Amino acid sequence: MLLGILKETAAGETRVALLPESLKALIAQGIAVCVESDAGVAAGAGDQAYAEAGATIVTDRSALLATADVLPMVNAPDAGAQASLKPGAVVIGFLKPLDAPHALDAAIARPATLFSMELVPRISRAQSMDALSSMATVAGYKAVIAAADRLPRLFPMLMTAAGTIPPARVFVIGAGVAGLQAIATARRLGAVVEAYDVRAAAGEQVRSLGAKFLDVDLGGISAEGGGGYAAELTEEALDRGRDLITKTAAHSDVIITTAQVPGRPAPRLIRGEAVEAMRPGSVLVDLAAPAGGNCELTQPGVEQQINGVTLLAPLNLPAEVPVHASQLYARNILNFLALIVKKGELSIDLSDEVLAGACVAHNGSPVNPRVAKLLEAVTTS
Ligand code: NAD
Repeated sequence: MLLGILKETAAGETRVALLPESLKALIAQGIAVCVESDAGVAAGAGDQAYAEAGATIVTDRSALLATADVLPMVNAPDAGAQASLKPGAVVIGFLKPLDAPHALDAAIARPATLFSMELVPRISRAQSMDALSSMATVAGYKAVIAAADRLPRLFPMLMTAAGTIPPARVFVIGAGVAGLQAIATARRLGAVVEAYDVRAAAGEQVRSLGAKFLDVDLGGISAEGGGGYAAELTEEALDRGRDLITKTAAHSDVIITTAQVPGRPAPRLIRGEAVEAMRPGSVLVDLAAPAGGNCELTQPGVEQQINGVTLLAPLNLPAEVPVHASQLYARNILNFLALIVKKGELSIDLSDEVLAGACVAHNGSPVNPRVAKLLEAVTTS
C-alpha cells in the first residue's frame, strides 16, 4: 500500500497532513510512504526529516496522485488533482462536503473513497480524531494573540512606580472549543474576561476558567441542539443576545467572537452600532468569518479599520501556527487511519459509525446522509 503526502496548494496554507514523527507506526506496518518535496517545510518538517523517517521524497506530483492508495490531506484536492486520482484511492481531509459538495464530483466519479474530517462524529470514541476541535483550539489561542498584538494597550494589570495600568477587558462570544481556549489565553495574559453563549451549559465551563458568564433570558426557548451544539435561534431570541452584546461591547477592549451553528451560516450577532460603541483602538476578531461572520460589518478575509476599531476576519488562523496545528492534525489523521488500515492493508468497514459518519462517498455513491441529500438537491434543482 502506498500512502502519499502532498504539498497543500490552497493559498496561505502552511499545514501538512502528516509529519515525519507520524510515519513510524505506518512504515512499521509495511506501508510505503511518498512525500511531495517541500510538503512539510512551512510546518517545520523538511524533506530530510521525512526521508530519515523512512519516506521517499518525490517531485512528480502527478505520478504520486495517480499511484497513491491513501492520501491524507489538509484541504480537498482541486478538480484537476481529483480527476487523476487512482480509482479506489482513499482521500482524507477537511473536504468541506457540506459547504461545496459538488466541488468533490470529480473525486466521487473516479471513484475515490472520501472521508471528511469535519464529519467525524463527536462521540467519545472519536475524540482523538476530532480535528475540528484541534483547529478550533489553535484558532482560539491565536485570535487572542492577534488581538493583543494590535491592541494599543497592555493586557495585564500593572502596578508600577509610574502608576497603575488597569487590565484589558475581553469579551468572548460563543464559548465552544475556540471560545473556551480564547478565554483561557486571555486570562493567562491577565485580562478580565466576560463571555456569552446561548447554551446555558457553557456557563460552568466559562466560570471555571475565571471569566464572568453573561446570561440572556431567551424567554424559555431551548438553545441546545444535538451533540452539545447550539440550535438555530429565532430572530427575537437573537435580538436579546444582540442587545447584550451591544451593551457589553461599549466597555470591552477586545471582542473575540466564535458563535456557530453547524451547517448554517454564522449567526449575525454583532450590530454595526456595537462596533461603533467600542473605544478607538479596540479590536474585534471574528473567528466565524469562514461561515460569513458574527458581525454585520465583517468582510471575510479582510482587515478593516472602522472608526478606529480594528476588525479582523481571518479565514485560516490555524495556518498561522503551522507547527502545532500540523502536529495536532497529524495525530487526528493517524488515529483515523488506524480505523481503515489494518496490518498495512486498507480495510474499510462502513458499519463502523465513525467511518460511516465521516464518509462522503464510497464506490461512486454518497454515504453520509446529509451529504447525499445536498448532492441530490443541487443536482435535481
Ligand atoms: P461551534 O463551533 O458549532 O460553535 C461555537 C459556540 O457558539 C458554541 O458554544 C455555540 O453554543 C455558540 N453559539 C451558537 N449560536 C450562538 C448564538 N446565537 N449566541 C451565542 N453563542 C452561540 O461549537 P464547538 O466549539 O465545535 O462545540 C460546541 C459544543 O460541542 C461544546 O459544548 C463542546 O464541548 C462540544 N464538543 C463535544 C465534543 C465531543 O463530545 N467529542 C467534541 C468537541 C466539542
